[in-house]
Amino acid sequence: MKIFTCIKQVPGISDVKIDPKTNTLIREGIPSIMNPMDKNAIELALSIKEERGAEIIAISMGPPQAENVLLEALSMGADKAYLLTDRAFAGADTLATSHALALGIKKILKDSDSNEKYMVICGTQAIDGDTAQVGPELAEDLDIPQITYVQKFELKGDDKVIAERAFRSEEIVVIETKLPVLISVLKEINTPRFPSMLGIVNAYKKKKVVFLDAEALKAEKAYIGLTGSKTEVFKIFIPERKGEHVKLTGTIEEMVKTLCQNLKEDKIF
Ligand SMILES: Cc1cc2nc3c(=O)[nH]c(=O)nc-3n(C[C@H](O)[C@H](O)[C@H](O)COP(=O)(O)OP(=O)(O)OC[C@H]3O[C@@H](n4cnc5c(N)ncnc54)[C@H](O)[C@@H]3O)c2cc1C
Repeated sequence: MKIFTCIKQVPGISDVKIDPKTNTLIREGIPSIMNPMDKNAIELALSIKEERGAEIIAISMGPPQAENVLLEALSMGADKAYLLTDRAFAGADTLATSHALALGIKKILKDSDSNEKYMVICGTQAIDGDTAQVGPELAEDLDIPQITYVQKFELKGDDKVIAERAFRSEEIVVIETKLPVLISVLKEINTPRFPSMLGIVNAYKKKKVVFLDAEALKAEKAYIGLTGSKTEVFKIFIPERKGEHVKLTGTIEEMVKTLCQNLKEDKIF
């Protein structure tokens, strides 16, 4: 069985800065990290591998520097890693991103020349783009079932999939399907392991990230990068903080009284 884990490189800070002229993220001087939920995706893949055996393939679309997060995936225990990188992929929206990932997965499956079962694990959402669209769009492109917002997962028998989906805290749905499937996981599903020393040494010495460009994927220009993107960003901005921070002091009774007075004055109460 092959388990594809989709790994995105994201800026490693919560205080994202935006260039108001170009409407793009300012990436200079900002360290990049693996999208946190993608670590949960790898952890799930590793636990499945430990239980029943599997080959874990980490895949990412991004600039050449995204090799670092794939090396991290290899350090954690992934068996192979592929980076889809080409100037032709630049400017991709979620649709063009998921199409490139789908082409990569299809190529890897075709080249492996086996009828092995497979599944794809994504994080539910990335901390920068935050759309939670790539997983579902990728499943559509691969034409396989999808289960999103997964917080519990079980593989039974040969190919039976049982997943607990938590969309809202009050709404938990258990879904059954069969492989192949794409799931997107929540951070609640597990606690990702740290790479071991041996894992890090092996990743950097023995394993290699395979780079694939648009030509290797036989990607059509109309479906990748900026030309393949159906959305257009008109403006990107951080909303101005309008409220003011008021610190109340005194006894609980005094603070509650002041709070009620303030709320009445602001006509909220
Ligand atoms: C018009 C437009 C232009 C854009 N131009 C650029 C640009 O020039 N440069 C740029 O860097 N970004 C660009 N973006 C942002 C880019 O579309 C998103 O970063 C990307 O599609 C992923 O979307 P997301 O962050 O919302 O991921 P989500 O859908 O929130 O991510 C969910 C999961 O999908 C998987 N995933 C997401 N992205 C990848 C990936 N690249 N590789 C592997 N797995 C992945 C991960 O498992 C992740 O946890 C652009 C977006 C738009 C709308």
